[in-house]
Amino acid sequence: MAVQALYRKWRPRTFDEVVGQEHVVRTLRNALTSGRIHHAYLFAGPRGTGKTTMARLLAKAVNCLAPENQRPCNECTICQAINEGRLLDLIEIDAASNTGVDDVRELRERIGFRPNEARYKVYVIDEVHMLSNAAFNALLKTLEEPPPHAIFVLATTESHKIPATVLSRCQRFDFRRIPAAKIVARLQWLAEQEHIRVDREALTLVAHQATGSMRDAESLLDQLASYDDNGITVAEVRAALGTGASETVIQVTDALTRSDVAQGLGAINTAVDEGADPRQFARQMVEHLRALLLLRLKSGIVPSHVSEDQRPQLEEQASAFSPRSLARAVRLFTQAATEAKGGWQPQLPLEMAFIEATLLDEPESSVPSRQPAPASPRASLPARHSTSSPAPTRPAPARSVSPSPSQSSRVVLESASTYGSLVPGDGSLTPETLRKRWSELLNILRPRNLSLEALMRSCEPVAVEGDVVVLGFTHNFHCSKVGEEHNKQIIEDALSSLIGQRYRVRCVLAQQERTARMSRRSTSEPVGGKAALSAEQIIAEDPVVRAAVEDLGAQIVRRSE
Ligand SMILES: [Zn+2]
Repeated sequence: MAVQALYRKWRPRTFDEVVGQEHVVRTLRNALTSGRIHHAYLFAGPRGTGKTTMARLLAKAVNCLAPENQRPCNECTICQAINEGRLLDLIEIDAASNTGVDDVRELRERIGFRPNEARYKVYVIDEVHMLSNAAFNALLKTLEEPPPHAIFVLATTESHKIPATVLSRCQRFDFRRIPAAKIVARLQWLAEQEHIRVDREALTLVAHQATGSMRDAESLLDQLASYDDNGITVAEVRAALGTGASETVIQVTDALTRSDVAQGLGAINTAVDEGADPRQFARQMVEHLRALLLLRLKSGIVPSHVSEDQRPQLEEQASAFSPRSLARAVRLFTQAATEAKGGWQPQLPLEMAFIEATLLDEPESSVPSRQPAPASPRASLPARHSTSSPAPTRPAPARSVSPSPSQSSRVVLESASTYGSLVPGDGSLTPETLRKRWSELLNILRPRNLSLEALMRSCEPVAVEGDVVVLGFTHNFHCSKVGEEHNKQIIEDALSSLIGQRYRVRCVLAQQERTARMSRRSTSEPVGGKAALSAEQIIAEDPVVRAAVEDLGAQIVRRSE
């Protein structure tokens, strides 16, 4: 037997039952009791905020047979007919459906007919912005001279798409997103009616997920209730939503307070590995950090998803930040929420947001900009890159120990064609071998400079040219950061500890690299060159090229020099 959806079954039958649109209810009620009924209304607002429900309530109220102050009574024949969806004088048109346009034409032809049994014929046109111009014109003619027995309710999620001529004929009501606290209260009531066992915390998560749409919230509860009858827990809601656990959000934030890059990135990676959607996770981070910011500023605003028992913990976390660094972190994770798309490295925007937040949060003295120093008190090993401390390596002949200052902080954006030369200086080092030993390199870097180690997770060795190792980055910020001379020195030292030979480091933007390839593709230069590697070899060797070919559909062409 088909079960009626919760949100239909429990659709509000009186104005008092409507949640979160008090301003609309108040105005409509006043109009009804004073007999000032308009012929056209526009109900604008996000989906699931009660526009159609309100339209039905209005249809009942104007037609109800009970005394004015008791309408809608839900007991008279008219109210009952509407509740059961069989009143002929309530005509609901879905403008988004194929028949929407025909329905509007038909409406125009039949508008003159008097109601069958009610006082008013009420036309509800849902998603009215979907109407064609022709249909809008037909509608406009009707609205210009509405018969006294007709009331129109135009409902839309996108009022800006409605012609001004139509808008000007309507009394407009803007429906608001419903606050999470009100959604929670309503869900709790629903759960009681339906004997659904559910944690309050789970309801809070559901409400939050619904972003102000009661219909979405009720549908979600419905869906969760159908999974099992042993009660709905937060864990189940999270599993259903594919969201990261909020403990992870707390963990990542904790790591942020301590600038503990290893723990932060670890927690992010675990969450993503376990199936958390990076974009969703970034949104949760934003929500959490925003809550901290509001608490930190003592704004008096407590975000609705913060429960009373969570509050002390959040306040403690908030006190570990400066308002400025929290604001920055909010901004950084907001950016990550829009950037995270999956693909090459889905967790990367999250990691970058985290790293940037820690970098910015470091006190000025420990930012390794003048004097390379361990970025964290946890990094206890001495930095071994200074020229005075003898490194257990033999210096490479081609390497000058102190490079010219003009090179410092200069980001080298080389033409991608140079990557064709995958042959290393003495044949011993390839990007491939470096990639295999990357974690060893990170291990060497970690005690020397934690932030730098984290930054190095955002790049890949893309080429070795003579004694130069080329690192490819996706983000300009990290490219320039690692490209700063003192950072390059630290990496070069670490590299020489790892390989036993001096190599210089050059940082390039992988994005630029891809773009360069894409544009060269359009100029279609001939493939050739004596030492040309096969396209397959290049793809196999070079992750950036691989990404360009596989993700972007680039072709391998080679510049003959
Ligand atoms: Zn009634």
